[in-house]
Amino acid sequence: MSFQSLGLSDALLKAISKKGYTTPSPIQLKAIPPVLEGRDVLASAQTGTGKTAGFTLPLLQYLSENPKEKFRPIRALILTPTRELAAQVYESVKDYSEFLNIKSAVIFGGVNQKPQVATLRRGVDVLVATPGRLLDLQNQNLLSIKRVEVFILDEADRMLDMGFLRDIERIMNLMPDKRQNLMFSATFSKDIRKLANTILNNPVQVEATPENSTVDAISQKVYRVAKGKKTDLIIKLISDGNWKQVLVFNRTKHGANKLCKKMVSAGISAAAIHGNKSQGARTKALAGFKSGSVRVLVATDIAARGLDIPLLPHVVNFELPNISEDYVHRIGRTGRAGADGQAVSLVSADETTFLRDIEKLIGQKIEVEIVEGFEPDPNASTEPIRPGQNRQPRNSRSRSRNSNNSGGNRSGGNNDKSSNSRRRNDRRR
Ligand code: AMP
Repeated sequence: MSFQSLGLSDALLKAISKKGYTTPSPIQLKAIPPVLEGRDVLASAQTGTGKTAGFTLPLLQYLSENPKEKFRPIRALILTPTRELAAQVYESVKDYSEFLNIKSAVIFGGVNQKPQVATLRRGVDVLVATPGRLLDLQNQNLLSIKRVEVFILDEADRMLDMGFLRDIERIMNLMPDKRQNLMFSATFSKDIRKLANTILNNPVQVEATPENSTVDAISQKVYRVAKGKKTDLIIKLISDGNWKQVLVFNRTKHGANKLCKKMVSAGISAAAIHGNKSQGARTKALAGFKSGSVRVLVATDIAARGLDIPLLPHVVNFELPNISEDYVHRIGRTGRAGADGQAVSLVSADETTFLRDIEKLIGQKIEVEIVEGFEPDPNASTEPIRPGQNRQPRNSRSRSRNSNNSGGNRSGGNNDKSSNSRRRNDRRR
């Protein structure tokens, strides 16, 4: 099956071939036809499967085949949980629309709103946004989404993890009832299904990979190690293995900073990326990592979700995540688009329960290795680290964002439309 046979326009085919794609990925094969038909779609797809093109290509085809008046209202809204993912999706939209008369923009918090507002004023067809900045600008009457025809919720599971449910409901109330809705999620919890019921109308369900299974191309290994020796072990693994590009996950922002400093002291170029870093620092760290000038990127889960770094060879869990699904997302940063990758986890005694839960989730035992001189501490307690003790609650980000919002109660005059009234029979056609 080729991109041509999916019925995509010549302008899109030209952009696809410029990107070097020869065949559609499974999620693209499954998602593109129903999206082109105007159906609502609920897609289960991990990052790295090509899901962005899966929704962007048919979206662009629809918009270009149904042009609107010169004054450009926002016709498509793509909502993403993190700023980095928003920037990445926007790059894809720009690339795929290179040969079309479609304007796109991205807005997210942490940076000056002025350039974003100036771009919006010039007219935008496709807007990629994070919820906080979208609602901020809407509250200031600097944008309107009341003409949106297609709404795409990307990484819906992470949206809920980050406490964005209320924001999503508010955003839905600002859009017209008649629209097409696409929802992408790596995992399908009860809450995700509930959200899908309020957003989607008679959706086509597509699935690219089995839920929570790890990508075959990724080799996984666990190093059992004493907690206090983890830093030395990771430095040894990176140095001895001559690893050039390594994404390291930490549970906490503080831990990420500390590890980053130690790496730098050991002569390994490293940068940290997490929620307390300014957007400028986050962008710089990611750009340095992608270009190869930064060898190690130390990240927390929230900052790293959805990052697309082509051909990332090594992912290290400096600490295992206490939410097993996060393990799947983390190691999904490697082995992308068919490339081989290696994911290693440094596991101390107090993470034994996390490891067991992860193995249960992925349905396989991970190979264990012990490096001489870095043995686990036989006397250490296997009592798990309690998440509340050393990590910020997931939804605190959105809470603090809300409190920064001058508007206070964002739902304002929109409460007349309950989110349950969202389910309509009409679609955009
Ligand atoms: P995504 O899952 O959307 O983040 O995409 C993962 C990576 O796969 C990105 O680097 C895309 O550029 C790449 N990609 C998307 N579609 C294809 C395709 N059909 N063939 C090869 N690479 C692709």
